[in-house]
Amino acid sequence: MIKIFVFCFNFLLLQKDTSSVTHKQYLSVINGYKQLLVDIREYKLSPQQARERFQEMMIILKKAHPTARYDSTQVQICFPLMGFDFRAVGGRGSGYIPRGYDLFDQTKKGSHPAHDIFMKDKDQDCRDDRTGDYVPVLSTSDGIVIATENGWQAGSEYRGGNYIWIYDTTTGGLWYYAHQREIYVKTGQTVRAGQKIALVGRTGFNAAMPRSDTHLHMTYLRIDEEGNPFPVNTYGWLKNATTLLDPRIAIDLEPISAIEVKKLPENIKKMPLIEAPKVAYQAIVPLQEEESKSRRRRNRQ
Ligand SMILES: [Zn+2]
Repeated sequence: MIKIFVFCFNFLLLQKDTSSVTHKQYLSVINGYKQLLVDIREYKLSPQQARERFQEMMIILKKAHPTARYDSTQVQICFPLMGFDFRAVGGRGSGYIPRGYDLFDQTKKGSHPAHDIFMKDKDQDCRDDRTGDYVPVLSTSDGIVIATENGWQAGSEYRGGNYIWIYDTTTGGLWYYAHQREIYVKTGQTVRAGQKIALVGRTGFNAAMPRSDTHLHMTYLRIDEEGNPFPVNTYGWLKNATTLLDPRIAIDLEPISAIEVKKLPENIKKMPLIEAPKVAYQAIVPLQEEESKSRRRRNRQ
């Protein structure tokens, strides 16, 4: 069933604008990216072999999505934790350590080319202490899901836990989300910015430890013309991200498992709430201080 869905989806996609990419090539990425990650993790490929396979896949994706462009100043993302904003990013962005990172070589340790985004969860049950609810992970961008892990078992030494990789069809890069409790997307599926893809969780060897606070681990990799990955510090994007602070806004973006909408408790006041508009996600203006200030100024004039 899933395979038929993937096939149909890609058929439609490839009809559009991809004379140079065949179904078979596209499916080799959709069906092969997770295996590549597993082979790297299990040392079945040398770093160079892994890089070559990765490059092939990325070049196929780039050809299949020729309108994707990377321009760090133009990136507009959706903040990935619903009900939170950049203030939840660990260490005010100082947790990002790209030095020594090599996607293809698991022996290299010590880097953290990512931001960890924390929720308040004192009893570590993955529910937000302010609301009593699980926290949805939203896709930061439009894209295609190219790998997911949904079967992490407690005790497993794998660090990512339940994870998602998404190819960003706007910037031509990759997003990696780790440690989720539940995953709501499947490989081959398209996602839109702001769409619920998972719940924040504590899966992964370190993330499951009592010493670890509940968080989302998120990496963005820019992909160059040759298909090489380079981690990017996304703190600036997270600061300017569109924020969905009220669960009622995201309810229409909920394709897989409906969330119960409850009245927000009084103690959520610390986070500024925005009114639930009767418009689609795309029409929501990013909440930026400068903008609201200038709007106020305009209103006064
Ligand atoms: Zn992390």
